[in-house]
Amino acid sequence: MKAARPSRAYVALGANLGQPVISLQSAFDSLSRLDKTSLLNRSSIYRTAPIGVSDGQPDYYNAVVALDTALSPQELLAALLKTETDHGRVRPAQLAARTLDLDLLMYDERVIDETGLTVPHPRMHLRAFVLHPLHEIAPGLVIPGRGPVADLLRSVSDQRIARIEA
Ligand code: ADP
Ligand code: MG
Repeated sequence: MKAARPSRAYVALGANLGQPVISLQSAFDSLSRLDKTSLLNRSSIYRTAPIGVSDGQPDYYNAVVALDTALSPQELLAALLKTETDHGRVRPAQLAARTLDLDLLMYDERVIDETGLTVPHPRMHLRAFVLHPLHEIAPGLVIPGRGPVADLLRSVSDQRIARIEA
C-alpha cells in the first residue's frame, strides 16, 4: 500500500531561561528525530522582547521549523509537549519564563478548535517572534483565517526583534 502524503506542520520554538540558544539547538535536534517526522527547514534564531509580561523577564530566543509528518495534529502536539518536558520545562504560571516552549502553529490548512489544541495557533498572527522566522522559511505562507504572513508582518513592526548569528 502506498504511504499517505505527509502533512506540513510549522512549529514555533521559544526559550528565555538557562542557556536559550543551546536549548533551541538541542530542540532542533530533538524535532529532527521525532517519530514519523522529518525536519525540512529551520529559521535563524531571533532575540526578542518578552510580550505580555511586566516582571522583567529576560529576552526570549525564538525560531520556527517546518516539518513533514505522518503524526496526527494531536500526536504531534503530544510529542512537542513531551520534548518540552525533556528539556526541563516546568509550568509555574501562564506566561512564566521557560526553558523551552514549543507551539504548533499550523498543520496543513487545517482549522482545529478542541480542548487542548487550537490550530492555527490563536496568537501567532500577532507576534513578531513567530511571523519573522516563519516568513524567513515560508515567505508565501497564508495563515487560514488570518491572511498572508508577509502582510501580517507589517502590523507587528513595533515589536523588538533581531536575528542573531547562531
Ligand atoms: P503558551 O505557549 O500559550 O504560553 P503553554 O505552552 O503553557 O502556553 O501551553 C498551554 C497549553 O496550550 C498546552 O498544554 C496545550 O494543550 C495548549 N495548546 C492549545 N493549542 C496549542 C497549540 N497550537 N500549540 C501548543 N499548545 C497548544
Ligand atoms: Mg506553548
